[in-house]
Amino acid sequence: MSPTTRLRPVLLAGLLAVAMSALADQTELERCIGELRPTLLARGISAAVFDDGLAEIEFDPGVLERLDFQPEFRTPIWDYLAGLVDAQRIEDGRRLLAEHAELLEAIEARYRVDPAVLVAIWGVESDYGRIFGNRPVLRSLATLSCFGRRQSFFRGELEATLRILAAGDVEADRLVGSWAGAFGQTQFMPSTFLRIAVDFDGDGRRDLFDSLPDVLASTAHYLRQSRWRHGEPWGIEVALPQRFDASLIGRTRRRSLADWQTLGLRPLANTAWPLPLERQAGLIRPAGDGGPAFLVFANFDALFSYNAAESYALAIAHLADRIRGADSFQTPWPTDDPGLSRAERREVQQRLAGLGYDIGEIDGLIGSRTRAAIAQFHLAQGIEAEPRAGQRLLDALRRASAETEAAPSDRPWPHD
Ligand code: CA
Repeated sequence: MSPTTRLRPVLLAGLLAVAMSALADQTELERCIGELRPTLLARGISAAVFDDGLAEIEFDPGVLERLDFQPEFRTPIWDYLAGLVDAQRIEDGRRLLAEHAELLEAIEARYRVDPAVLVAIWGVESDYGRIFGNRPVLRSLATLSCFGRRQSFFRGELEATLRILAAGDVEADRLVGSWAGAFGQTQFMPSTFLRIAVDFDGDGRRDLFDSLPDVLASTAHYLRQSRWRHGEPWGIEVALPQRFDASLIGRTRRRSLADWQTLGLRPLANTAWPLPLERQAGLIRPAGDGGPAFLVFANFDALFSYNAAESYALAIAHLADRIRGADSFQTPWPTDDPGLSRAERREVQQRLAGLGYDIGEIDGLIGSRTRAAIAQFHLAQGIEAEPRAGQRLLDALRRASAETEAAPSDRPWPHD
């Protein structure tokens, strides 16, 4: 008996099990959505809107994988920022800030939010309208409403989505977004859309897909509702005194600038504090000992409310500063292997592919296939390293590519 023949029944049984489990999930989804129907109709959703949207909805296993995704490798803050605040995004942001100056001025006059911050959120959330998710929002939210953790949260978002469709703001087939149901060029959740989105171009629809006035004004409205203070900085990089008490660190452990000054903190770049001494600030130190430290003000909290991660708020704040022409932070990150820009990540992938590694599509995203290729490359080089894409890897790849070009007959194919 050949190995293939022996394996076949096992394979078939496996495939059958997968198919049966998919069928069971679909049946369960239909039962669950059927059960939700009277509840949502009683809450004012019309039968037509419910059935048009959900009668033939399909289970999406992909969103459940994302819901439970535990990042295999924790991303250091310097990698996170290197990809989000890179030369390309800064340059695009400066160009778009100038190109849309008139619109941004009108939005600033109405909502009192600084234009560069809006452009920065736009740049981080969708690369300025280039990438903003392609999963049908109803399908994601129906699945998340019936399976996994946080079902009641996602049921609220599903209901909000049906209300958006009922209002005619978005066509059902246009409504695609992230795995969690965030959509549009600045990634609003459906309930946020209902509360916050505005029709700034006055065409009668709130459109976060195709109307830049609506996109940027809705984002400004969000920050205004989160108590944005016009014209004020988000924070300032500071120098800490020697032997500093680390228990004072924390975004919400706010003290007055006068208190911080008494504790020995001073501004790194400027000679003066950017706000009056009685103003409150929290101290953050995103990379811990040795990395940069910042005192952060109310506007940092407004950014944090957009997406509850300090790394996210810092990326937006810093990108906005860079778009306005500021330099990068004065204190280097505590690493001898800095992170890569998106252009450098594409170069890593191109060089890996050029050396014969299978990395799939060259998209600048370090996914599981790229990481596997990086691990193989490290192994082939005799380097013991985690499969992380930093400057050191890029240098090693550049050297390996140069050697390969010099001696094409000895090309060390890692496969076959
Ligand atoms: Ca509109």
